[in-house]
Amino acid sequence: MNTLTEEQKILLANVQRAVRDKIAPAAAETDRTGTFNWDVVSLFWDLGLFQIMLPEEYDGWPQNPAHTLCLAIEEIAKACASSSLLLVIQAVGSYPLILAGNGDQKEKYFPMISDQRNLMGYLVTEPGAGSDVQAISSTAVLSDDMYVLNGRKVFATNGAVAGLYSVLAKTGEKELTFFVVERELEGISIGKVEDKCGFRGSNTAEVIFEDVLIPKVNMLGKPGEGFTIAMGDFDMSRPAVAALALGLAEGALDYTIKYARQRHTFGKPLIEHQAIQFILAEASTLIEASRGLMERAAIGFDSGRKNTKLASMAKYFCSDAAMKITTDMVQVLGGYGYIKDYPIERMFRDAKLTQIFEGANQIQKMIIGRELSRK
Ligand SMILES: Cc1cc2nc3c(=O)[nH]c(=O)nc-3n(C[C@H](O)[C@H](O)[C@H](O)COP(=O)(O)OP(=O)(O)OC[C@H]3O[C@@H](n4cnc5c(N)ncnc54)[C@H](O)[C@@H]3O)c2cc1C
Repeated sequence: MNTLTEEQKILLANVQRAVRDKIAPAAAETDRTGTFNWDVVSLFWDLGLFQIMLPEEYDGWPQNPAHTLCLAIEEIAKACASSSLLLVIQAVGSYPLILAGNGDQKEKYFPMISDQRNLMGYLVTEPGAGSDVQAISSTAVLSDDMYVLNGRKVFATNGAVAGLYSVLAKTGEKELTFFVVERELEGISIGKVEDKCGFRGSNTAEVIFEDVLIPKVNMLGKPGEGFTIAMGDFDMSRPAVAALALGLAEGALDYTIKYARQRHTFGKPLIEHQAIQFILAEASTLIEASRGLMERAAIGFDSGRKNTKLASMAKYFCSDAAMKITTDMVQVLGGYGYIKDYPIERMFRDAKLTQIFEGANQIQKMIIGRELSRK
């Protein structure tokens, strides 16, 4: 691990305590009931975790924000992936404002996030546009000094619980533009709330816009800059998803090692069978490699270097590793890995999403390939 600053060590110790006392004990029940845990939300505000990516004057981290965010996400994901996703989406949803917001927008919306504790949503995906962001069909049409927003966004993390959204819409035939949108506006409604395989404590909802009037001043950046802003956001968010996947994998391995020390077969602890040791050795090695990639991508982002290729590598490598490791840990626990009294089957279900969202892994490989082919 990279050397941590004193501030990072203090934050991490606070997060570890919160995980031990509050998050880990609630993880199984949150998954079973599929309910959104507002207590965890309050805890994260109190710990300053939702503010990490904001400018310093709004309680953000002046140095190493992306790396610090990743450290917190990793630690939380060891016990509860749904809770750790709260931090990812808060950063992803705020980032268009951080990257492209003007002075007036920042003065209005950063206090709404930091002081009034609004959760963020990031509304890009539509029924006809997932991987292919440019295929969105939601429209924002200028009428006097208001934009009229129409469309249907799906799979929005925090969709039904966020107070503010970053919404991508078409402002012209080939022009994609981000807007900051307050959820209370007339014409916004929540559609289907998804019943998911994993991340069951995370809210995933459809958000419908019908003739919603958005003040022109809520446009982030200039008309047509939306795609570039979305790609800039990914450079920050993909290391964060990599950290989430890494934490999941570590949580699964740690649990399985303890289990394999206690479980006996053929007269000795499971962990003393070489075939089991090989599985654990492979998982442990993949975790160390994952950490190296995730940290390079996050620290690269903080230093201002272009990290697009590393961010995609970290996202796909760490999520593939998490899927393999959680699958293998089910195997090591045998039948006990497959039942809900043990946390491994939850981690296995949660790991799958990390290969799909924030750009599915096939898309990450397309990006790496494109970067390699650049002269
Ligand atoms: C729980 C959950 C939470 C989410 N949260 C959000 C959110 O907060 N905000 C938001 O905007 N979106 C969110 N998403 C959407 C997510 O980002 C998309 O599901 C993802 O980008 C994939 O899009 P898709 O599901 O439409 O799959 P598709 O784009 O239909 O792709 C299907 C499969 O084909 C592959 N594929 C597609 N095109 C190619 C190609 N050219 N070459 C090779 N393979 C290809 C993909 O990798 C994928 O495996 C969330 C999704 C889920 C399930």
